[in-house]
Amino acid sequence: MEERLIVFTDLDGTFLDHHTYSFSALEAILVRLNKLEVPLIFCSSKTRAEIEAVRQKCSNSHPFISENGGGIFIPEGYFPFPIQGGMRQGEYVVIKLGARYAELIATLRQTSVNTGTSIRGFNDMTIEEVARECNLSDAEARLAKQREFDEPFYLLTQDVEAERRICKAIEQSGYYCTRGTRFFHILGKSDKGKAVRLLLSFFRKVKSSLVSLSLGDSQNDLPMLKETDYAFLVQKGNGEYDREVLEEIPNITLAPAPGPQGWAYVMSHFLEKLAFS
Ligand SMILES: [Mg+2]
Repeated sequence: MEERLIVFTDLDGTFLDHHTYSFSALEAILVRLNKLEVPLIFCSSKTRAEIEAVRQKCSNSHPFISENGGGIFIPEGYFPFPIQGGMRQGEYVVIKLGARYAELIATLRQTSVNTGTSIRGFNDMTIEEVARECNLSDAEARLAKQREFDEPFYLLTQDVEAERRICKAIEQSGYYCTRGTRFFHILGKSDKGKAVRLLLSFFRKVKSSLVSLSLGDSQNDLPMLKETDYAFLVQKGNGEYDREVLEEIPNITLAPAPGPQGWAYVMSHFLEKLAFS
């Protein structure tokens, strides 16, 4: 293979099943990607600790992107050159693109007051509450609460106007507001796309002819999906496709199934079509 394939994927509702968080449907295709030595990069709104748990389960040792592009974690020595702007943290070199968590919490509180919109964020929730809301175990919810660059939240009343109002107010305060598989998110001027672009520039230093591909299910994946040569959209748990993604990228490849089932289907077809296998 002359060209090198690199894959970026969202986790919740894409690589992981929306309800069960299982990725057992991907077993065979992961073996194939592994054989082809394709770097599989997790790019999620999940925290470092949560992504580490998924990496461990599927023996993934590639760099990853946490909290909607807030942090890029590169295993020490992964690239044969020093990482500009990176800071050594444990076994990683970390590039922080996101805003500080405390700053996000303060802004979210203020925005909630200013817009008269009642919201509830991870910071307001107990571990048990996060576990219940996300269908996680308490141990997993503990990892989900270890946030650094992004705060997930929901509105206490279902009201499209209020959703628009709070997102607009967040943007006016100089932050981003996006929607993931389960929650709204407030974050700094970082997104999945910026992190993907930066990481791709490192891979290009090693291999000039790269083919990049990304997979997602929600609006927060849009910047990532726009950044790669190929982009695939999987169905949400209810069988629908994200409307905003469809509007922004009308020619995106649609997976005919939700989450990991859709992931496995489009990926195996892609490998055959481009003769990567
Ligand atoms: Mg998702």
